[in-house]
Amino acid sequence: MSTSNTDTDAAAAPETFEYRAEMKQLLHLIVHSLYTHEEIFLRELISNASDALNKVRFRLLTDRDIVDADAEQRIDIALNEKERTLTVTDTGIGMTREDLIERIGTVASSGTLAFVEELRKKKDGPLNAELIGQFGVGFYAAFMVADRIEIRTRNADSDSTPLLWTSDGTGSYTIEESDRTARGTEITLFLKEDKDDFAKKWRIQSIIRKYSNFVDFPIHVDGEKVNTVAALWHRPKSELTEEELAEFYKFISADSEEPLGHLHLAIEGVVAFRALLFVPKKAPQGMFREDFEHGLHLYSSKVFIQDDCRSLLPEYLRFVRGVVDTSDLPLNVSREATQHSPVMAKIRKTLVSKLLGTLAEWAADEDQERFQTFTREFGPLFKSGLSSEFEHRDELMELIRFESTHGEAGDMTSLAAYVDRMQEGQKAIYYILGDNRPALERHPSLEYFRANDIEVLLMTDPVDAFIVPSIPKYKAIELTSIEKSDLKLDDKKKKGGLSKKEAGKLIDRIKSVLGDRVEDVQPSERLVDSVATLVTGKAGMDAQMERMMRMMDENFTSSKKVLEVNMRHPLMKNLAALRAEPFREKDVELAIEQIFAGAELIEGTLESPETLVSRMTDLLVRATTPDEAADAGA
Ligand code: ADP
Repeated sequence: MSTSNTDTDAAAAPETFEYRAEMKQLLHLIVHSLYTHEEIFLRELISNASDALNKVRFRLLTDRDIVDADAEQRIDIALNEKERTLTVTDTGIGMTREDLIERIGTVASSGTLAFVEELRKKKDGPLNAELIGQFGVGFYAAFMVADRIEIRTRNADSDSTPLLWTSDGTGSYTIEESDRTARGTEITLFLKEDKDDFAKKWRIQSIIRKYSNFVDFPIHVDGEKVNTVAALWHRPKSELTEEELAEFYKFISADSEEPLGHLHLAIEGVVAFRALLFVPKKAPQGMFREDFEHGLHLYSSKVFIQDDCRSLLPEYLRFVRGVVDTSDLPLNVSREATQHSPVMAKIRKTLVSKLLGTLAEWAADEDQERFQTFTREFGPLFKSGLSSEFEHRDELMELIRFESTHGEAGDMTSLAAYVDRMQEGQKAIYYILGDNRPALERHPSLEYFRANDIEVLLMTDPVDAFIVPSIPKYKAIELTSIEKSDLKLDDKKKKGGLSKKEAGKLIDRIKSVLGDRVEDVQPSERLVDSVATLVTGKAGMDAQMERMMRMMDENFTSSKKVLEVNMRHPLMKNLAALRAEPFREKDVELAIEQIFAGAELIEGTLESPETLVSRMTDLLVRATTPDEAADAGA
C-alpha cells in the first residue's frame, strides 16, 4: 500500500491509497462474476451496521463519555431513485482512520485468498453469494451494484476525527476529513445504471424482511420501520410457530434451507439461561477446518455479547447453530473471561446433555429419516467426540453408527443393535477398518466370519481409525479387529487340512523364504477361500491405521505383519506335496513369494506390482509349458 501524503496534512487534501494486488483481484472477481443473489449486499451492510451498534451498546455499559451518548441506536436507509443512490446510516461505533485502512481497505488475507480460490473454482456456474459473507469480505459485495461508494464515519471516541472514504472499487481509495460529525457510519452507494432497482422502497423493504428481520435494532427505510425486532428465544415455546423458527434459523445461520430440527430451552437452575439451538440439514462448508466459525451466539439479557462462541459447546458439536442468553453473566464480560467462566461451563454441560438427549430421541423415533440425515451429515465429526468426551461417553456410544456385514451398503447400525444380533457364545464385537465397503467385503480376514454367519462392523470412515482406540469396550463387550493375529476363533466348519507335522514343515519353508519380511507365519483359522492373509501382530496397528499414519508422517515405518496361511487350501496341500520333490524347489519358492505379494496387494502395502506381475508371468509360463511326457503318451 502506498500513501501519497503524511498524516499532518491529511486534513487538507484527500489521501490516496492503492489496494493490495490480491484485493484488486478480489474486487475484479466480485464485480465480474455472476451472482445468484446480488441483493445480499444489503444484508452484509446491515449486519456490519448491527455489529457496530452492538459494540456501542456494549461500550455504553461502562463508558458514557462518547460522541452522541444519547443517540437512538438504529439503522436508517435512505433512497433516492433520481440520483440512483442508497445510503445506509447507523449510530454505531464508527470507524477510525486505522479501521478504514486496515478493515475496509484490506481484508483479512488468509480468508481472502481462500475466497478468491473458491470464486475461481466456481467460475463456470452461477456463484453462491453466501460465500461472500463466509469469507469476511461482506462490505465489498456492495460493488456488485455500485460503481462508487462513499463512507462517512465518526468513531465513538470523543476526540475522534470525522472521515470520508471513497472508492470506485478498482485500483485505489481516498481518505479525507469529513464534516459529518454525528457518531456512526453513513455508507452511500452510487448504483450502477442497471441496478436502479435497489433505489426502490418496496425492493429494499422486501430484502430486509428476508434477510435482516431479527436484527436487534430498528431498521427504517425512508423513515418507515421495517423489521420486527424480536428476541424469539424469550417467547414461550408454545407460542413459536415452525415458520418463525425456520425463519430465525435461516437468519442466524445464513442457511437457505430449513433446519433439521431444533431445541428450545428455558433453564431455571443453578444457572438461568435460555437457548434456541438448531441442527442444520446439511453440514456447513468448511466444518472440519480449524477456523470454522462456531454457530452459537451469546447474549446477556438480550444484549449481544459475542458470536463464534467456542466455549459453549465441544468441538464435536460445532455444527449446532443458535443463541444462548443468560442473565448470569456480567454484560461487559470479555471473550477471554467467558472462556474460563464457571457460568459458561455450567451452561455448556446442560447444553451438551440436552442436545445428546434430543439426538437420542431422534434415534429412537420410528421415522428414522431425521437421524439418518444427521448421521450422514455430521456422523464423522460427531464420532470424533469419543476421543475427547468422557462425561457423556456412554450416550455418545449409543448414538454412533457404522456399516456392517449385516446390512446393505449405506445401512448403518448402532452398537446396541449389533449386540442384539450377536451369536450365542460370541465373545466380541468384531470390526474391520478400511477405505471402502467393496474392498472390505473382499477381504480374506472376513471369510471365516462370513462362513460362520458372524456380523462384522465395516468401518470405512477416515475418522474411525482414530476413535476405535478410545472405545475398547461397549457394555463390557470388547471391540476386536478381525485383522489381529491372536483372534481366538473356533471354526465349526473345520475340515481336512494338512497334518500338524506336514503343516509345521511347510510353515518352516515359508519362513525361510520370507525371512525377516514377516514377524511370523501361522496357520489360519479365519481363512476359508483365500490362501493367505496378512494380519496385525500382537503389538501392531491395524493396516488402516498404519495407512493413516503414513499419510500424516512420511517417515512412519509400519510394524511387521504376521502371514496367516490356510492349511485347508489346495495350494497349501500342493506345496506340501511338492516339497518332497527337490527339482520343484523353484516352483515352491515362486509360489510362496507370490502368495506373500498377493496378501500385501490386498492389504494395500505392496510396493512393487511390477515384480508381482513378472513373477506371475513366470508361473504362467511354467504352467502352460506342454508336458512332454503326456504328449508322447497320447
Ligand atoms: P466482516 O464484516 O465480515 O468483518 P466486512 O468487509 O463487511 O467484513 O467489514 C470489514 C470491517 O469493517 C468490519 O469487521 C468492521 O470492523 C468494519 N466495518 C464495516 N462496516 C462498518 C460499520 N457500519 N460501522 C463500523 N465498522 C464497520
